[in-house]
Amino acid sequence: MSVARFVHDTLPQRVRFASGEAAGQLAEEIKELGVSRLMVVAARKWLAEQVAGGLPVAVWHHDVVMHVPVETAVRAREVAAEHDVDALVCIGGGSATGLAKAVALTTGLPIVAVPTTYAGSEATNVWGITEEGRKTTGVDDRVLPRTVVYDASLTRTLPVGMSVASGLNALAHCVDSMWAPRADPIDAALAEEGIRALNAGLPQVFADPVGLAGREQTLYGAYLSAVAFASAGSGLHHKICHVLGGMFDLPHAQTHAIVLPHVLAFNGPDAPEAERRIAAAFGAPSANEGLAALRSEVDAPVALRDYAMPEHGIETAAGAVLAAVPAGNPAPVTLVSLTALLRAAWEGDLPR
Ligand code: NAD
Repeated sequence: MSVARFVHDTLPQRVRFASGEAAGQLAEEIKELGVSRLMVVAARKWLAEQVAGGLPVAVWHHDVVMHVPVETAVRAREVAAEHDVDALVCIGGGSATGLAKAVALTTGLPIVAVPTTYAGSEATNVWGITEEGRKTTGVDDRVLPRTVVYDASLTRTLPVGMSVASGLNALAHCVDSMWAPRADPIDAALAEEGIRALNAGLPQVFADPVGLAGREQTLYGAYLSAVAFASAGSGLHHKICHVLGGMFDLPHAQTHAIVLPHVLAFNGPDAPEAERRIAAAFGAPSANEGLAALRSEVDAPVALRDYAMPEHGIETAAGAVLAAVPAGNPAPVTLVSLTALLRAAWEGDLPR
């Protein structure tokens, strides 16, 4: 990766980090925006009320579904219009953020995001909507939240298994940002620091899910990972997970957590600089060993078949991924190698 010649876009967004202060920080942001008819988008009512209870909310919207089915997006847009809202506040994981983005895409309404998982959607200008088993994504600056309020204390209620999977989803943003189509030295620097923070934070979250220090490190790493990913674009790992998620309605974070070691082992030998940087960020002799050590420490999910992906889906998915392999992927990709990778991920046969 040459530092002599590259083009890097930085997305315009304010980020506020303040553990235990989401309500106050959000109120300041709403005041500054000068808005007074909020639509609060959140799957978890109690979480939303805790954060936005004191704000001028025109409508609370809890009809949130993972991967944003088109009917859900249409309903949310109707609700926004019926209540004549002037801003969107999403409080929750990538699914709540994704729904707010679907509304912003057609209305141009500003979003303030309060993330409570490590998915990272809040720091990207990427939207996604699913229709008949196919997820369509696009890039549009209207969906980029104006401000993100990060409050690690809100993530303490995220169950440990989901926290681990979501943190590994963030780690996958970092790893893919090393070789995705628009990867540049700034992305790699962000990704390296993201891996370091996630590797430090996740074991603490696993050992002490209500402790704040591990949650803060993990949230910080998740933000860095998303910024790197937004700039670098989708690499092979994201293309695989995108196809699997849309085709088999698999849980997003767990799919990423399972597929990541296979893609790292596949691309690593053909991407020596990425391999060196990832290993350094883990503080391990190799990238694969660093990831394996973290995964075993946090009891990471291992097999796609545990999430109800059908075995016959391996072949169908391999064909669909092959058609979407990003240009410039470090390792050459064939139908045979992809099928072997997906089979190993399906069976839970971890790379050695
Ligand atoms: P999610 O938002 O569906 O959350 C998972 C579960 O955790 C849900 O049941 C949710 O209600 C619950 N939850 C969230 N925060 C909680 C908390 N603090 N306490 C208790 N429960 C809590 O899952 P996710 O993995 O965060 O997001 C996945 C979605 O985000 C997918 O649709 C994916 O495509 C999208 N995504 C988009 C981008 C992007 O850039 N556009 C990036 C990453 C993910």
